[in-house]
Amino acid sequence: MMEKSDFDSDLFRTALAQLDRVAQRLDLEHDIHERLRYPRRALVVSVPVLMDDGKTRVFQGYRVHHSTVLGPTKGGLRYAPDVNLGEVTALAMLMSWKCALVGLPYGGAKGGVRCTPRELSKRELEHLTRRYTTEIMLLIGPDLDIPAPDLGTDEQTMAWMMDTYSMTQGKSVPGVVTGKPLIVGGSAGRREATGRGIVYALYQATRRLGQNLQGLRVVVQGFGNVGSVAARLLWREGCLVVGVSDVKGGIWNPRGLDIRDLEAHVAESGSVAGFPDTEPLTNTEILEQPCDILLPAAIGSQIREDNADRVKATIVAEGANGPTTPEADAILRDRGVTVIPDILANAGGVIVSYFEWVQGLQYYFWRESEIVSRLQEVMSRAFNRVWALGAKEGTDLRTAALMEGVRRVAEGYRVRGLYP
Ligand code: GLU
Repeated sequence: MMEKSDFDSDLFRTALAQLDRVAQRLDLEHDIHERLRYPRRALVVSVPVLMDDGKTRVFQGYRVHHSTVLGPTKGGLRYAPDVNLGEVTALAMLMSWKCALVGLPYGGAKGGVRCTPRELSKRELEHLTRRYTTEIMLLIGPDLDIPAPDLGTDEQTMAWMMDTYSMTQGKSVPGVVTGKPLIVGGSAGRREATGRGIVYALYQATRRLGQNLQGLRVVVQGFGNVGSVAARLLWREGCLVVGVSDVKGGIWNPRGLDIRDLEAHVAESGSVAGFPDTEPLTNTEILEQPCDILLPAAIGSQIREDNADRVKATIVAEGANGPTTPEADAILRDRGVTVIPDILANAGGVIVSYFEWVQGLQYYFWRESEIVSRLQEVMSRAFNRVWALGAKEGTDLRTAALMEGVRRVAEGYRVRGLYP
């Protein structure tokens, strides 16, 4: 076992603790367990950018491949002020379990640049993205590692990455990223995929718990690509969306919010804050409001030891990666709260990324209805497997999902063996 880890961070410690617990349950061989604990490779890059004020600023960037045993690596790129090597490594590890769990032929990867995208101009963001792409060029490619959007990045970021990579190849290489704009090889339904996947997971969970989505009260933390789509689709399903928040704060109305009007308000003002007929709440208060379903879809470590007791929801669906700390997870488990873990709940994004990649490789694009029905099929199958395993093993859904994901990756290591 490595003595002192270069990947030390809260999230990495959490990811390791999860893996170690599951390895024991699965009775994993020591050598495979040991290999799973560390990333295959990690690249740290400096990203110098000429800023609008004429000064050059150097940003820190990362790209980590956790495991390559099941195929090329896949995972998002995040722009956030606290990104570090340990966090990116932990997220890459989660991608390995997530892809394996839903049956995609991918290993796990993640990338990040430590920056505050809100404070950068469009020109600065473009230069940052292009230089970062150039610096990690060694590690990416359509059959090597395929980035996608994550926190703080979007379709435009992917278009710049794809263009930068393509320029060095002298041809268009759409398969190098997913989550691209439609016009340059993006997939119908990719933007909505994560939110839609969450709704399918919730549909399955409520059905199993003898409930019906209609009429259930929902609170959503985070109104970005994941939270806003999930809120809209759940509202359309007849849920009462009683609370929503974004980086500027939260809003609350126990009679339910009109999500279409809220979206118009956000488009105009840039935030959910100040939406008429609502009470203002902070981002932490929103987690503690009375509701049936809580959807943390913002950033990591939001449900912690100090507030997990006050979560009133009976179902938590993790739209974000790592929103619940292990201590909070134990508290929720003891209280009988059903937690649909990140690697299952938010897998819709990478599932449709896979569809986009396949379509791009074949130069043949599917109708949105086909994407949606295939996504539903993959999500439902994964959910059923996790639910059945949880029942068989007498575990919560997170343990079951991790067991299934880790087991598959471990099987890959087992049959491929150790080189040389
Ligand atoms: N960033 C998303 C995730 O955490 C999507 C990754 C992808 O599409 O490759 O799952």
